[in-house]
Amino acid sequence: MLIDSLDRMIISLLRKDARLSYRAIAREIGVSTPTVIKRIRKLKDAGIIKGFTVKVQGEPAEGVLFIISGEDARSLEKRIPSVIGVKEVMRTSSGGLIILSEREATDEIKKVCEGKNVRLMSYNIISSERHHNLKARCAYCRSVMDNAISVSAGGRKYYVCCPVCARELQAKVKGMKLMSGE
Ligand SMILES: [Zn+2]
Repeated sequence: MLIDSLDRMIISLLRKDARLSYRAIAREIGVSTPTVIKRIRKLKDAGIIKGFTVKVQGEPAEGVLFIISGEDARSLEKRIPSVIGVKEVMRTSSGGLIILSEREATDEIKKVCEGKNVRLMSYNIISSERHHNLKARCAYCRSVMDNAISVSAGGRKYYVCCPVCARELQAKVKGMKLMSGE
């Protein structure tokens, strides 16, 4: 998906405050509210905005840690922060850079490094906050829950998204217990 300057402005506003209303964003960048709604929907569909919203809500954070070393590493220090999805850029004592970013930034970071005398290493990271995220999935259907219902089955407590899943889960746990002969 191609991102233009309008998209970038919307993203940077949402990065500062993910709870900004469509109207406030529209006023800020001087376009109509429907335009903002359309753009945000497009960015969400492309998975570009999700990271920021999630980040501000304090949920996330799946991401990528990049380590750039080599002679030209420091020269990229100014360019890297403008790459969309980059959350943090730090220096290493040996003249390299450590970058914490959203997964979406990967291609762009590789591009920035192209033709430079650098070595780029990347690691997928899953922060401890990500575990909250995992917990917030329905134990039965695995959908992400807004409101969880707690249900006990087989002497354990589970969280599910709806009464239907609660029933199905209890039946499933019961079935497993029967199979294991308890
Ligand atoms: Zn469910």
